[in-house]
Amino acid sequence: MSAVYRGFDFFASGELPAPQLSESEAGTVGTEMLGRPVTARSLGSQQDANFLLEDDLGGPLGVLKVPNEAFTAEELDAQTAATARLAGALPDLRFPTAVPSTRPRDLPDGCGHARILSFLGGGTLNGSGYLHPEVIRRLGTIAGRVSRALATFEHPGTERTLQWDLRHAGRVLTLLAPSVRDPARRRVVDRTLSSVWPLVEGLSSELRLQVVHGDLTDDNVVCTAEATLRRPDGVIDFGDLCRSWTVGELAVTVSSMLHHDGMTPRDVLPAVSAFDREQPLHDAEIDALWPLVVVRGAVLVVSGTHQVEIDGSNVYAASGLEREWRILDVAAGVPFDVMRAAIRTALGRTTEPATLPPGHRALVAAPGALTLDLSSTSAALDRGRWLEPDVEHALATDALDAGAPAVTTAFGEFRMTRSVPLSTTAPATAATGVDAWFSADTELRAPWPGVVSRDGEGVTLRGDEHVLTVAVDGHTADQPTATVATAALIGSVPARTRCRITVRLVRGAYGSAPDLPEFVLPDELASWRSVACDPTALLSDRVLSESRTDDADLLLRRRAASFATVQEHYYASPPRIERGWREHLISTTGRSYLDMVNNVAVLGHGDPELADAVARQMLLLNTNSRFVYESVVAFSEQLAATLPPPLDTVFLVNSGSEADDLALRLAMAATGRTDVVAVGEAYHGWTYATDAVSTSVADNPTALSTRPSWVHVVDAPNSYRGKYRGLDARRYACDAAAQIERLAETGRAPAAFICEPYYGNAGGMPLPDGYLETVYAQVRRHGGLCIADEVQVGYGRLGRWFWGFEQQAVVPDIVTVAKAMGNGHPLGAVVTSQPVADRYRTQGYFFSSAGGSPVSSVVGSVVLNAIRERNLQANARDVGAHLIARLQALADKHPIIGTVHGSGLYLGVELVRDRETLEPAVEETDRICERLRHLGVILQATGDRLCVLKIKPPLLLDRAGADFFVDALDHVLATGY
Ligand code: PMP
Repeated sequence: MSAVYRGFDFFASGELPAPQLSESEAGTVGTEMLGRPVTARSLGSQQDANFLLEDDLGGPLGVLKVPNEAFTAEELDAQTAATARLAGALPDLRFPTAVPSTRPRDLPDGCGHARILSFLGGGTLNGSGYLHPEVIRRLGTIAGRVSRALATFEHPGTERTLQWDLRHAGRVLTLLAPSVRDPARRRVVDRTLSSVWPLVEGLSSELRLQVVHGDLTDDNVVCTAEATLRRPDGVIDFGDLCRSWTVGELAVTVSSMLHHDGMTPRDVLPAVSAFDREQPLHDAEIDALWPLVVVRGAVLVVSGTHQVEIDGSNVYAASGLEREWRILDVAAGVPFDVMRAAIRTALGRTTEPATLPPGHRALVAAPGALTLDLSSTSAALDRGRWLEPDVEHALATDALDAGAPAVTTAFGEFRMTRSVPLSTTAPATAATGVDAWFSADTELRAPWPGVVSRDGEGVTLRGDEHVLTVAVDGHTADQPTATVATAALIGSVPARTRCRITVRLVRGAYGSAPDLPEFVLPDELASWRSVACDPTALLSDRVLSESRTDDADLLLRRRAASFATVQEHYYASPPRIERGWREHLISTTGRSYLDMVNNVAVLGHGDPELADAVARQMLLLNTNSRFVYESVVAFSEQLAATLPPPLDTVFLVNSGSEADDLALRLAMAATGRTDVVAVGEAYHGWTYATDAVSTSVADNPTALSTRPSWVHVVDAPNSYRGKYRGLDARRYACDAAAQIERLAETGRAPAAFICEPYYGNAGGMPLPDGYLETVYAQVRRHGGLCIADEVQVGYGRLGRWFWGFEQQAVVPDIVTVAKAMGNGHPLGAVVTSQPVADRYRTQGYFFSSAGGSPVSSVVGSVVLNAIRERNLQANARDVGAHLIARLQALADKHPIIGTVHGSGLYLGVELVRDRETLEPAVEETDRICERLRHLGVILQATGDRLCVLKIKPPLLLDRAGADFFVDALDHVLATGY
């Protein structure tokens, strides 16, 4: 490093408009430099001019970079040397190299440093689309690796004074802030300068220095796309290379993520951890990180605003401004103490929760306080009570009425009462304080000495280290501040009035601790604990629960310990769901999800009528169907009445698998045969016989090669992507009939043909017109029976038809049903004709201990009646039609939607990479489901290729729910996944 060398100095040079070079001039320069005809396309830059040079076929030849003439040759040499160092040290990453070229004889003014670098394909992460966590992590890793590789790099050309070097941010902000004319925005910048920058300055002596890329952002990484996921694997634009703070490199990378769709400060934590793994951060660097992120945001907005001011034609700078404001707003939207704790936790460093001062006294004497349960498992919140306005106060006064002298809430509880149905963002449900109600007027006494003040909000006691606030509903007393001793009277709470008690530290890691919001996001609670104390001990000598945490991870580990791995669960890190209400599922953190997948819960979750009926019958009698009682008879009659003749005989079992298994055995017994014909891409259950006829490779990858010899598989009649499509799909029936014919000829005429009458497992697709008519006729011609598996598609879900076979205008010999029948209670049935049923005698007698029990039968009747009385089939038809129309409209916008299958509330959105080849968008489907979950929708993939979004919500789904889902899907498809 040379002491005499002095590179560019922003503060000495003043304004730096980008070199003025048109695309045609750049084309001329490029043509001369490369010695072949090229065309140039501007790539934009704030202070330089960059052009993509292409040959006449549009093939990229390189990037013409025209650095601002204010920069010296030494500085450009440093950039070339640093790139070479990185290319050597990080061979798996891509870096731009110089393209051999000749110097043009006479360059336009201001273009003296023009050079051509190799073009790295794949595109950057520009735009504000969604950043996948994996991409965020990789950005952090790349920044960390670049930082480590440059840590020992030295070059005199890195000694320069750039406006982007965060060490100079204070001066840059002072100089350029006047460009920001909007008063509100100006205040944000001024606040950064007056209260954030000093935090950085205070830590600056402890921050390591080294050469940094200085602009390692979403815009300056290039990517390789895998299944439309852009994975960064290269770094471009070394124009801001300089000596600066090591942690500044990370602050720049992190801030560049914050304008992306849906980003919250916490979402960048994977990048910070990834950086730390490559380039471990020191404590002071961790403390400086978030202030630096905010400072970087402010530098971006003042620089961008200034650049537009001096260079109105710089479209690049102008178009970036809104994004830059977003970065600053998001970064500044979270208190430093909270982010510091979150970062430290993410990096495995310790953070201590704040505690009450030792030796504190009680705030109130509240013996025997009862703690309300407002969590997602609270019985008091059943039957939708959690949605009633002011339900917390109502529950508290109920408890006081019942004799409790005082009622409190639990600190840190994730309150379901704060959950918001149909919300794309997680609600703040974690309580940072405790609410209390007293049966009588109650005095408040100072738990420690301090200064007390009272205002419209309530009472505040400021001690040396702790601030206590007691916010009292309707508080009016306004009194002067006073210094008080421990146990002094500081206020009172009227009987049966809610007060809200919080204690926060006076000082946090950065000076004054932030004010506490009443509720914070569940994820953020642990971070807020660095400044928020649990005030429970002030209310009684009993120390109540510590903050409740979401123990979804622990539960997952316990589950793994007692479950087999073949018993899979939805999602890699699933939410813990303990509550359902109508079409909503609510996690233990109070996040409400729209349930688009539960075809079992036709009536919705938590149905009070059903719950009451079960409880009543359970208390009355629950036994087995060898006893004679009415409910099983009544339900069997009711069920049979939904079916056409001759289907009049009912067997009640406990599941779809059992129903299909029994159906197969009935057919075998009735025909005296053992061969069965099944269709491809089907699922019928897990028992030995139903597994044998299940052919879906999504459920069992070896399904097709491991069928027992008695199972004969005909082609999946998939009219969208099978061997016959569109009108041609009629040929599946002929092929199947021919195959059955051949079986009969070889003496293996089938006992049964089993098939879903509407193709649920393939994604809610109708069978080709006339399919069942032809195949059933052929099966019957050879003496076999036809089984319709209505487990998924029957019972009103299809909207227009109660039973799937009605769509095909056939009547099966045996119908199986389950799922919807019990609304989650284990209930299945086989319905057939008396003669077929009677033949079962040849295999002994039939008995199922719980099948048709009084409770099951009552459930069956309540569900069937409710479907009728609540018009759920009509609702499925109407809301389904609305959903289909909206989804089809989405298909016009998003080419990934290959088609929309289905009817009523059984729909499938099939996702493809190409509408011609129909290449299944498998990884995309998975990522879309994952992102939808974060937006509040539970949805899963189905079909043999797992590229169909299966839409089969509770039948009470209304238009608002349908619209919420489609809007969320639209958003995901538009912003990325
Ligand atoms: N048949 C079909 C068409 C199914 O979708 C299922 C379950 N997915 C079954 C049978 C088996 O039902 P169960 O899980 O109740 O045993």
